[in-house]
Amino acid sequence: METTDVFRRPMKDLRISVTDRCNYRCRYCMPLDQYVWIEKRELLTFEEIVRLARLFVDLGVGRIRITGGEPLVRRDLDRLLGDLSKIGGLKDLSLTTNGSFLARSAPALKRAGLRRINVSLDTLDPDKFRAITKRGRLEDVLEGILAARDTGMAPIKINTVVIRGINDDEIMDLVEYSREHGLQARFIEYMDVGNANDWSLERTVTKQEILDRIRSRYPLEAVGREESRAPAVNYRFLDGAGQIGIIGSVTEPFCSTCSRVRLTADGQMVTCLFASGGHDLKRLLRGGSSDVEIRSFLERVWSVREDRFSDRRWQQIRTDGYHRKDHRKIEMITLGG
Ligand code: SAM
Ligand code: SF4
Ligand code: SF4
Repeated sequence: METTDVFRRPMKDLRISVTDRCNYRCRYCMPLDQYVWIEKRELLTFEEIVRLARLFVDLGVGRIRITGGEPLVRRDLDRLLGDLSKIGGLKDLSLTTNGSFLARSAPALKRAGLRRINVSLDTLDPDKFRAITKRGRLEDVLEGILAARDTGMAPIKINTVVIRGINDDEIMDLVEYSREHGLQARFIEYMDVGNANDWSLERTVTKQEILDRIRSRYPLEAVGREESRAPAVNYRFLDGAGQIGIIGSVTEPFCSTCSRVRLTADGQMVTCLFASGGHDLKRLLRGGSSDVEIRSFLERVWSVREDRFSDRRWQQIRTDGYHRKDHRKIEMITLGG
């Protein structure tokens, strides 16, 4: 069954945030002062998450990504992954993590059915790592990445948000690191997610610029998107050392094919990364609604979806009319990236 929105975009990918907590405080993501943390009793239980995931899959979702906050701070996450991996009709299950706890949790995650993983890594310089994350230790993440690789998870994608003046001088170091260890580097344009970071267009290193820099050392051939709706455009190294991906979220927006729906840790269904609000599914779950009722609610919400924030932003940037503080957005740690 396929569920489509106003622009005939199907609902195909579900991102589930399992917590808004995080052991890091990345400067481009974490709202510090004004944020009200989700209370524990408001978090969906694993049973509630799995029930909703099944209903989303009934409506055509084929891929689920677990995210957060930092998903690995949620206790017994492998149990959730085990239950999700058994959902019939689900084609792909993945996880995005900061990698800090991966060394100890990778084997259990793999046993639970996780076959691939994305790890965020913005720098290979230990001091800079500390400055960006405020709390993290680079060596933990590097150890975690290799532990995940040793379990046989593949591909392992290394997500780097490129910020001018912060880590754009490290693009090639991260490319070399990924090539050396059989990982897939993925560079992401810096976005104005949430309400607290210091985003500006000048700080966004464009997809084209990232590509040009890598190409100046390694010839690349465009492979295209893994799936027609995937955000990353992939490029293969002509020398055979794997591939990289670049996500042009700001300068090459992909709203026209966006099939992503998000579930917050407290049970809000959100139809865009830049939305200012969501639709309360916890109320339905805890109010005794049947599967049929919840499914038709999900369908209704998706059927009127008109989100195309990044398309509009790019149009406005080019006509000089973009004011980033114009509307209040849900924070990235609530939504999951
Ligand atoms: N804590 C996990 C992690 O860091 O991988 C998962 C959640 S995090 C919100 C998901 C992804 O969003 C990370 O790869 C992070 O780098 C990315 N992200 C956060 N803020 C961003 C921003 N302003 N622009 C682009 N990507 C961002
Ligand atoms: Fe935490 Fe991930 Fe946000 Fe960094 S990017 S603060 S690790 S949720
Ligand atoms: Fe999808 Fe919203 Fe991002 Fe556009 S801005 S690609 S609609 S999440």
